[in-house]
Amino acid sequence: MVVKRRHEMGAGGQCICPKCSKKSIHHDGIPCQDERCPDCGVKLFREGSYHHKLLLKKQQEK
Ligand SMILES: [Zn+2]
Repeated sequence: MVVKRRHEMGAGGQCICPKCSKKSIHHDGIPCQDERCPDCGVKLFREGSYHHKLLLKKQQEK
């Protein structure tokens, strides 16, 4: 288990694929949006970011 600290877009954390929800480690200095899912080829979101929350909300509203 990883203990999450509530840094606002700080170091650490994970990026997540909006399509397949695959998570990958966030690399310092590289925005998640600059990384792509190896499976889907789409831009990743920062986990817990504003955009990620919007996505989760959409998925729940199905
Ligand atoms: Zn993906």
